[in-house]
Amino acid sequence: MTKIFITRLIPSSGLNLIKEHFQPDVWSHDLPPTRVQLLESVRGVDGLLCLLTEKVDAELMDAAGSQLKVISSMSVGVDHIDVSAATERRIPVGNTPGVLTDATADQAFALMLSAARRIPEAERYVRAGKWITWSPSLLLGADLAGATLGIVGFGRIGQAIAKRAQGFELRVVYYSPNAKPVFGAQPVDLNTLLKESDFVSINVPLKDETRHLVNENFLSKMKPTAILINTARGGVLDQNALYNALKSKQISYAALDVTDPEPLPMNSPLLELENCIIVPHLGSASKKTRDQMSVLAAQNLIAGLNGDILPNCVNSDVY
Ligand code: NAP
Repeated sequence: MTKIFITRLIPSSGLNLIKEHFQPDVWSHDLPPTRVQLLESVRGVDGLLCLLTEKVDAELMDAAGSQLKVISSMSVGVDHIDVSAATERRIPVGNTPGVLTDATADQAFALMLSAARRIPEAERYVRAGKWITWSPSLLLGADLAGATLGIVGFGRIGQAIAKRAQGFELRVVYYSPNAKPVFGAQPVDLNTLLKESDFVSINVPLKDETRHLVNENFLSKMKPTAILINTARGGVLDQNALYNALKSKQISYAALDVTDPEPLPMNSPLLELENCIIVPHLGSASKKTRDQMSVLAAQNLIAGLNGDILPNCVNSDVY
């Protein structure tokens, strides 16, 4: 019998698709399996469906065994998977691009507006009973119309942000060496982007070249009034450097959907800052999007188990 391990309870749209063909073993606890539980659970499986919370490395692939035919992740980012190790073992790795583009672009915009208009600060203000009167100078923020948005990484999500930016009358520049200009966005080098942008949105994948791309040097080139939005991956940003830049007002504000590590420890100094918004990795967190992600992940898993080419494969050189 084909053995499958699914590392968490995924939406029924995807799970039922798998159950039409197979009887998967599903980790149905709220918390992900520990490393030990994971290594134990994957032993002898033919297919693995994982989330970004699982580190899928060579050790795990070897613990599964040489019969492992497919690794399917319910995410577009695959930085939690050692794709080279999978390729060496001729295991196709699937991801879920496209279906989460709009939800993640919406989240980037929600964070951009929240930071620009200081919504979480304002909300805390009201709940603390500090709202005494309307005041000409109370909690003033930044305008989007007429401002410049710089997008670092102009792929699916970066472009969807640019599309939304047109409606907000933002000028858009981007840095992404191979991307064609769309939605009125203008390609520029990174220094120009940092010098001119009032908002900087990070939308690159996490890989060796992009780890700590947002570092002290990067932040020092931004405007003191600039707002940074990260909906990519926490590892793209050096959090110590960000803390220093926010604390010293070298930049004005940051809004983070992702951190390193996740969850962010409660003693992180970032949590002391009024000018930093942090939400718990919710970029794709809409009902419809998660349903669609589960379906793509299921389709990749089923294709891999049947020996078919994965509809969305990140290492198609295995074929
Ligand atoms: P994508 O279509 O592959 O876009 C990424 C873009 O970044 C590509 O245009 C890529 O160019 C460019 N890029 C790569 N390295 C770069 C560098 N060093 N400098 C500038 N640009 C660079 O991916 P996507 O679907 O937009 O997703 C982007 C990332 O968002 C994912 O990898 C994932 O980590 C993250 N994400 C987060 C959430 C969330 O919940 N917060 C949800 C979805 C995705 P090339 O194609 O030329 O390499």
